[in-house]
Amino acid sequence: MTASQERIVVAGGGLAGLRTVEELRGLGYPGAITVLGAESRAPYDRPPLSKRLMAGEVDDTTLRAELDSLGAEFRFGERAERLGDGAVQTDRGERPFDRLVIATGARPIALPGPGRQRFLRTIDDALALRAALVPGARLIVIGAGWIGAELATAAAGRGCTVTVVEAAAAPLAGAIGAEVGAQTAPWYAEAGVELLLGQAVESVQDGGLALAGGGFLAAEVIVTAVGVRPDVAWLESSAVKLENGVAVDEYLRASVPGVYAVGDCAAFWSCRFGRRMRTEHWDGALRAPAVLAANLTDLARPYDPVPYFWSEQFGRMLQYVGDHRGADRLIWRGATGGPRWAACWLAGERLVAVLTVGLPRDLQQGRRLIESGTAVDAGRVADLRVPLRESAR
Ligand SMILES: Cc1cc2nc3c(=O)[nH]c(=O)nc-3n(C[C@H](O)[C@H](O)[C@H](O)COP(=O)(O)OP(=O)(O)OC[C@H]3O[C@@H](n4cnc5c(N)ncnc54)[C@H](O)[C@@H]3O)c2cc1C
Repeated sequence: MTASQERIVVAGGGLAGLRTVEELRGLGYPGAITVLGAESRAPYDRPPLSKRLMAGEVDDTTLRAELDSLGAEFRFGERAERLGDGAVQTDRGERPFDRLVIATGARPIALPGPGRQRFLRTIDDALALRAALVPGARLIVIGAGWIGAELATAAAGRGCTVTVVEAAAAPLAGAIGAEVGAQTAPWYAEAGVELLLGQAVESVQDGGLALAGGGFLAAEVIVTAVGVRPDVAWLESSAVKLENGVAVDEYLRASVPGVYAVGDCAAFWSCRFGRRMRTEHWDGALRAPAVLAANLTDLARPYDPVPYFWSEQFGRMLQYVGDHRGADRLIWRGATGGPRWAACWLAGERLVAVLTVGLPRDLQQGRRLIESGTAVDAGRVADLRVPLRESAR
């Protein structure tokens, strides 16, 4: 079969799904493409949902004004329910494919209990939540992670009374470790947001939260922001290997021939870090499709990113690059109480991750040092007056 005779089905109409179609057409791929999108709208951007949209600055975050020029069949409002042999079963019928790209992203984790808990994943979630965040509304956010911090920022700005309840000892502990995350705790009080640390929520009840160990917190609006899971339950009856997402190799190929995965749902093999990784980063959903499209058109290229993420919270820009899990040393750069500082993680003499607050140049320079695996001088890394790139040995 020639490429022009084949059909690729892309399950998932988010950023990674759209970018896959764009990259395939950019490489001149001539075959048929069908996109299945569970949401009944064109692909849109999620990062602004907790930032500019929640603040009331924008109402629409659609990624691409027109889709027609891509020459693909977009089937919005159609959910993939099961993977059969050479076909996806959806809630509307059967969609045969020659090759399949899984880009179904991730969905929020819910907590137990009968009370109403909202989430912040889709634009519909965001618009409904924003409408409820009227001045004086009492909001509780469960989870002081990235989304929780951004939502608390926006809600406080809208005049709500905001409490953030976090089970760990510090904000962002799961993402960047308690020691670094703790540096962000004072920002909550500065913004008038109450932060309750070390408070696990047992269940969500009508009108509030039941806390583990007793206690009840009353709230009008409750948002659960305790993380997401890859949206891959629909593949459980298939032969596709799942391992915290769709297990794919460095070429983004799943365990079943002709099946690939990309974006938040893909747990890819990282040659750089020597283990499987799954990131929930916009940058990954933006860039990995270029590698995938090259592999779908036979120009085999490994996907080997240095992961990158940003967050805008409490008037600050945070950026993180790398992966600190293999680090054996943490070096502070600048005073964490100030407006500009960085946390730098080293493994031996190599920089493996950097978190910057208000230091975009450090982020760029750190990224290059991480990518090249250059040995650095720890004393120079710690000195904010020395450009980070000059810490290279
Ligand atoms: C509020 C918010 C703020 C964020 N802010 C940042 C940020 O500041 N920085 C950053 O780096 N990242 C941020 N992110 C993360 C970033 O948006 C994601 O990494 C990115 O959206 C992943 O893209 P994706 O296409 O893989 O998945 P998704 O965007 O989740 O898209 C997957 C799509 O597939 C659909 N789908 C799911 N199951 C099925 C099925 N069975 N059949 C058909 N369709 C299906 C879903 O409905 C969804 O539309 C944020 C995310 C959110 C929610």
